Parts: sequence; structure tokens; C-alpha cells
Amino acid sequence: MTEPDLKQFDPAGYRSIVFFTGAGLSAESGVPTYRGHGGIWAQYNYEDYACQRAFERDPVRVLDFHEVRRTHVLKCPPHAGHRHLARLQAAFPQVRVVTQNIDGLLQRAGIAVDAELHGSLWRQRCSRHGLREDLEAGPYRQRQCPDCGSWLRPDITWFEDAVDGAVFARTQQLVAGCDLFVSVGTSGVVWPAAGFAQLARDSGARMVEINLENNEASALYRHRLRGPAGVVLPAAFPLAD
Ligand code: NAD
Repeated sequence: MTEPDLKQFDPAGYRSIVFFTGAGLSAESGVPTYRGHGGIWAQYNYEDYACQRAFERDPVRVLDFHEVRRTHVLKCPPHAGHRHLARLQAAFPQVRVVTQNIDGLLQRAGIAVDAELHGSLWRQRCSRHGLREDLEAGPYRQRQCPDCGSWLRPDITWFEDAVDGAVFARTQQLVAGCDLFVSVGTSGVVWPAAGFAQLARDSGARMVEINLENNEASALYRHRLRGPAGVVLPAAFPLAD
């Protein structure tokens, strides 16, 4: 049964809380979502910029695109919703955060992120020499691996890629063990990430959705809080000043 909006939740009443965040959490910072008005795939064809085939065909074009995104994201500051989540986590260690976002905004707000399901704009990887962080600026410090000279691929789960197995397993464990699951700004259509809401529900968690509007996954949630994340998060999880 659905309960009315504007409900408030006391984190102290839960053993393990998973905030499961999507592109909508970053929208108020100025990072475009994938879907809906202003979504980036209405503007760019992912087959040219965000899949392994594109990278193999034209790595320079793909890396140029990701540098543009990195430069844009650096201009986008964390907002009140990020800051509130950071305060919640500092006050309640049972607050865990799993994200589908690749922009690093949660970390910039001081939040410890348990799993980046779709990777990060701020890491690169070499198929032989592993991961490298590159946090500083829009342009990558290096585009080729200093050890073997091969192109460094953004460590992002692109279209047609599989989610990293270890990150998926860690998320599964957290979600199956939580007693409060809060999705924030996700359309719930990107698989396998979308399956975590069902897992949380099947595991008996109380289900809360924060979003501007209903979507295909909304029926899984007992509480559907409608409005921008930057407003709804502080209202639904109040903290003493
Ligand atoms: P999505 O674009 O499919 O859906 C965004 C959802 O957020 C929609 O349901 C929309 O109604 C909601 N929303 C928009 N503004 C909101 C706001 N201010 N407050 C609350 N909700 C709001 O995004 P998704 O579900 O995360 O899945 C898409 C994939 O896109 C993910 O794999 C992610 O890796 C990738 N992505 C990431 C970023 C990023 O890192 N910021 C940006 C775009 C896409």
C-alpha cells in the first residue's frame, strides 16, 4: 500500500540504510540526466561516444567527449541534498550509499560511497595494468598507459558493458541486508542496477522513493516522495541543527 507524501524518517530506527542514487540527484547541481528533458543521449549518439566499440574505433573522439564531461562536472557544485546526505552519514554510520552516478559529486560532498555501480569519470583503466585515478582537471593527465602505451579507457560501465562483478556483489550484500532502502533520482530502467529495488523489497526493507515523478519502478515503493532531491532529502530525514 502506498502512504502519503511528506513522511519523515528517523535513521536511528533502522539497522542498515541504503541510499541508492541516480542521475536525478546530480541534476540540481547542473549535471544533465540521461533521460527526459535535456538528457545527454538526446544530444549525442552513445554508439559514437560511450561503448567499447566506439573506443576501439576512435579512442581520441571518445576521450575528447569524456574530457568535455569532466570539465563540465567540475563546474557543478554539490547541492543541499548532497550536503544533507553527508551530514546524515556523519551522524548515523548505518547510512550506506550506492550510486549509479559517475560524476564524483557525492565524494566531493564528503560522502563515503560504498559502490559506484557504473564506474567513475575520475578513473582510467589499462587492460594490463589496472586502474589509475585522475582527479585533478577536465583533461586527462595521460591518455596512454605509461607502462605499456595502450590507450587508457575511462573506468565507466558503458552501454553494452557488464557491471564489475565485485562491485555488483558488494551492492547485493548491502541491499539484501538493509532494512531501509531509499532511491533518489533514478528512473529504475537501467539493468542490472534496477534489480536492486526488487531485491531490497524481497528482503523486507522499508521502501522509499525520492523522485520528481512516477516511473516503471515506483510500484515497488511504499513511500513515494515527490519533489527535487535537494528539498525532499532534508525534509524527509530531518537532523537537529
Ligand atoms: P535517468 O536519467 O535514467 O533518470 C533520472 C531520474 O531522476 C528520472 O526518474 C527523473 O525523474 C529523476 N530526477 C530528475 N531530476 C530530479 C531531481 N532534481 N530530484 C529527484 N529526481 C530527479 O538516470 P539513472 O536512473 O541514474 O540511470 C541512468 C544511467 O545514467 C546510470 O547508469 C548512470 O550511470 C548514468 N548517468 C550518470 C550521470 C551522472 O553521473 N550524474 C548523468 C547521466 C547519466
